[in-house]
Amino acid sequence: MKPAAFKYIAAQSLEHALTLKAEYGDEAKFLAGGQSLVPAMNLRVAKPGVLVDLNPITGLGFVESRIKAGLGIGNWGLARDDNPQSLILGAMTRYRTLERSAEIAAQCPLLHETMPHVAHPQIRNRGTLGGNLAHADPASELPAVMLVLNAQFKAQSVRGERWIAACDFFTTIFTTALATDEMLTEIAIPLPTNSDASRTRTCFMEIARRRGDYAMMGVAVSITLNAAGVCTDAKLGYLNAGDTPVLATQAAQALIGQTISDAHIQTAAAIAHDEIQPPGNMHASVAFQRHLAGVLTRRAIKEILDFRF
Ligand SMILES: Cc1cc2nc3c(=O)[nH]c(=O)nc-3n(C[C@H](O)[C@H](O)[C@H](O)COP(=O)(O)OP(=O)(O)OC[C@H]3O[C@@H](n4cnc5c(N)ncnc54)[C@H](O)[C@@H]3O)c2cc1C
Repeated sequence: MKPAAFKYIAAQSLEHALTLKAEYGDEAKFLAGGQSLVPAMNLRVAKPGVLVDLNPITGLGFVESRIKAGLGIGNWGLARDDNPQSLILGAMTRYRTLERSAEIAAQCPLLHETMPHVAHPQIRNRGTLGGNLAHADPASELPAVMLVLNAQFKAQSVRGERWIAACDFFTTIFTTALATDEMLTEIAIPLPTNSDASRTRTCFMEIARRRGDYAMMGVAVSITLNAAGVCTDAKLGYLNAGDTPVLATQAAQALIGQTISDAHIQTAAAIAHDEIQPPGNMHASVAFQRHLAGVLTRRAIKEILDFRF
């Protein structure tokens, strides 16, 4: 398959890319890793008139831990003890870098644990975090993980910049809150304080037909316990469970305020089973996807409580 004719422009700087997007609007697409866009163009599902290649721009791919200035209040840090320290990831950071980063392994084990589940090594060599999130595939692992991590996304355009909470970013299938002229440039993940009094532990699990395939169902879980072992915060994020990544907030409520027992886990899993809205497909019916969500919820919470605290 061959793409429809398009004009290719190698962006020389962030400003150049943003100016081109402002000029061409919807007609132009950013090219990041190309692992979703290029197949879509070859199938002629996507027919951009102009391709703005972000790859020549230096400085858009990085992993840093720092105190992030200039964030709007929004939902920032609500479940994270107001700790302003964040892990900042450049939009053009390759999956491979995320997977192998010692800093991410130490500071954000949920992201580290998730990366090997995203596609295959060849695709992880090229695919980027920003491309993944801007693509907004509800069956992808990373959008659900970003919801659970309370991440914030920096959108830049020639008009300026703004931060968008992950929970406001994914608006429907393959659609985000980015305006036509905006680029996703940074992802900020607030780091838990993990003091003695309050500890956060996480887990990612998915079930796919084959390693590297898109999953039939997946869950990212974060649990915070206080010194007395009472759950003070819980987040349950699901992929392939609706038009966007889904946070099962009612299921999480079954855990918060509890010294979590098997009965609480069963209740949370049963609520999540009903709370999500999986689409079903040729490989997994809606009923089977709900069943998998219940199983994964139980397993992931048990894994955290039995082995990660
Ligand atoms: C065989 C195969 C298996 C795969 N399996 C999985 C899987 O299991 N899980 C999974 O999550 N993904 C999977 N993928 C998709 C892969 O993760 C893609 O890399 C990812 O979805 C898109 O990232 P990219 O950097 O390649 O973006 P691109 O394909 O370059 O771009 C994707 C879209 O985002 C836009 N875009 C890119 N960067 C930005 C930016 N900074 N700001 C605004 N818009 C931007 C582009 O214009 C385009 O519309 C698979 C792909 C293949 C080919």
